[in-house]
Amino acid sequence: MTKKLFEENAYLKTCQAKVVLKDGLKYYFDQTVFFPEGGGQSADKGTINNIEVLDVRETENGICHILASELHDEFVEMVIDWEKRFDEMQQHCGEHILSGVIFDHYQGKNKGFHIGKDYVTIDIDHEIKPEMLIDIENLANQAIYDNIELNFEYMSDDKAYFLRKEPTVEENVRIVTIPGVDCVACCGTHPTRTGEVGIVKLYKVEKNKGLSRIFFKCGKRALIDLQEKTNIVQYFNRQYSSDDSTLVERFEKEKEKNEILKKKYIQLHREAIEKIINEQMSQDAVQYFSFEDLSGQGMNDVIKSVSEKGNYIILIYSILEHKVMLSHDGSHNLHCGQLFKSIRDYNGKGGGNQKTAQGVFESSEDAEKFIAYVKGELRS
Ligand SMILES: [Zn+2]
Repeated sequence: MTKKLFEENAYLKTCQAKVVLKDGLKYYFDQTVFFPEGGGQSADKGTINNIEVLDVRETENGICHILASELHDEFVEMVIDWEKRFDEMQQHCGEHILSGVIFDHYQGKNKGFHIGKDYVTIDIDHEIKPEMLIDIENLANQAIYDNIELNFEYMSDDKAYFLRKEPTVEENVRIVTIPGVDCVACCGTHPTRTGEVGIVKLYKVEKNKGLSRIFFKCGKRALIDLQEKTNIVQYFNRQYSSDDSTLVERFEKEKEKNEILKKKYIQLHREAIEKIINEQMSQDAVQYFSFEDLSGQGMNDVIKSVSEKGNYIILIYSILEHKVMLSHDGSHNLHCGQLFKSIRDYNGKGGGNQKTAQGVFESSEDAEKFIAYVKGELRS
C-alpha cells in the first residue's frame, strides 16, 4: 500500500518515490505527497518528474496517480501544487470550525460540504436565519484567534469519542479534533493550528432541499474577496465624492435626486406629446400623428390622450424607430390586426387584434409606404 506522507505532514510539498505498479498511464508508488479526493477536498494537482498529474484516486491497490503522459523512470520526484492544496486546507479546516460551532451552539448538523471555484458551502439540517450568520461568524473567528492546535489520531476501541457525526468508514477511522470546537472522522489534509485558516467570512444563507446552505470563504480567498470589494467601494467613493462612512447616504441622496428628475422628465414629455397632438389633430375620423422619437409607452400615452378627446381611429408613426401603431376604441367597423396582415409586403414585422395593431419596419421608407397604404385603406 502507498505510504500517505500527507497524513504525517500536510505541509510536505515534494518527495522522492519509487514506481511499484503501472497500468497504462496509471501509476502506483511506494509513497506519495499527492492527496486523493476525500473529505470534501479535491485531489491534489502537480507534477511527477515534470509530467502533469491529471487525477489521484484511492484504490484497493493503493493511491493511483493518473499522468498526462508515460513515465520512463523508476525513481521519481513528486511536486504538488501547494497554492491549491493550502487553499483547500484553509477552506476545509474552516468548514470543521463552522460545523463545530453550529453543532455546539445551534444543534445543526453539517449534511454536505462543497469547495466551489468561488464560494465554499455547507448544508445544515437546522434553520439558519440570515441574522444568525454574524453570531456564527464571530464564534468561528474566535476559534481562529485562539489558534488551537489540531489533534489527529486513529480511532481506538478503548476510548470514547464525542463525534459530530457518525463515521462513514469502519476501518482505520481517522479522528480530527479541534479541542473545544469540533471532533469528527476525516481523511482530509489540515493545518496544524486554527490560526492558519486566517479568517472565516460568511456571505449568505439560502434554503436548499430542506437544508440551510451557508456560503463562505476562508483565508486567502476571503482576503482576495476583500481586496476586490475594496476596489469596488473605492470606485463608488470616487463617483459620489464620499468615503466608506458616507457612501450609502450619498447614494440614497443621488437616488432621490434621480427620482425627482425622472418625474419631471415624464411630466415634460407628456406636455410635449400633448402639444404635438394639439398641433396635428384634424377634423377627420382618422387622426394621424408623427413623432421624431416615441417609445411604445409614449404611443400608448398618445392613444389614451386622443381617445379622451373623441372616438377616433388613431394612426401613429415614430420616425426614428420606424414604428407604426393603429388603434381605436372598438366603436369602428375596422379590424386593425387584419389591416396589418400585409405588413410583410413592406418589410415590416408585427400584428395585432381588432382594436389595436403595431409594426416595426426595416427603414423609414418602408414605414412611410405602409402608412400610405393604411391611409388609403381607411379612406375606402
Ligand atoms: Zn477534515
